[in-house]
Amino acid sequence: MTDTLSPLAERLAAVEDRILNACARAGRRREEVTLLAVTKIFPAQAILDAYALGLREFGENYVQEFEGKAPEVRSLAGARFHLIGHLQSNKARKGAELFDVIQTVDSAKLARRLAEAGKPMEVMIEVKLSEEESKHGCAPADVPALVEAIRAQPQLTLKGLMTMPPWSEDAEIARPYFQRLRELARQTGVEGLSMGMSNDLEVAIEEGSTMVRVGTALFGRRKKPA
Ligand SMILES: *Cc1c(COP(=O)(O)O)cnc(C)c1O
Repeated sequence: MTDTLSPLAERLAAVEDRILNACARAGRRREEVTLLAVTKIFPAQAILDAYALGLREFGENYVQEFEGKAPEVRSLAGARFHLIGHLQSNKARKGAELFDVIQTVDSAKLARRLAEAGKPMEVMIEVKLSEEESKHGCAPADVPALVEAIRAQPQLTLKGLMTMPPWSEDAEIARPYFQRLRELARQTGVEGLSMGMSNDLEVAIEEGSTMVRVGTALFGRRKKPA
């Protein structure tokens, strides 16, 4: 190709390189790791642009924000939308309507509300492994019971565990959190691991991540903190 790449295409190529290199170092195949494009705060056009470059899995943090974008992106064939931000039980129905995957199930009550929406859907359990007040998620000790509660709901398919370690410049800080999530998944017989973001995706892949959630490295800095 002689055309110059768009900034997004260039960033995507760089992220792909990082994922490939991490997979190679870890002795894993590229297909074992899904790239989730995190488009929170960016307009619907960011989703359309990423879709045009071949991305199909998208992550959004806020039900209300995505409700505004959904009309523009709903008809993209094969695109799937993941909620990766906290979901209040009273918004479960709306969340179930808008998203294909809810990665942030953290209570049996929320699982029940999602099931009551009546739509078959995929979910993950968000696990709170750090002590930060601001983080949501199920306590590690409560994960086995929540796995059971989700498996008891025929509408819900449990696709993995998800976590967000404390943010740090140093990706190595995240490694023990990723290791704990992997161990918890092993103990509870859960397969997928949604872990790793722009700054620590290599470490996450080395520790077994099956889905990295990447915003900044693809779309640039977000205007508002989120
Ligand atoms: C914003 C966000 C991401 C993406 O973070 P970047 O550092 O921009 O890649 C991933 N996961 C969750 C849960 C987020 O809220």
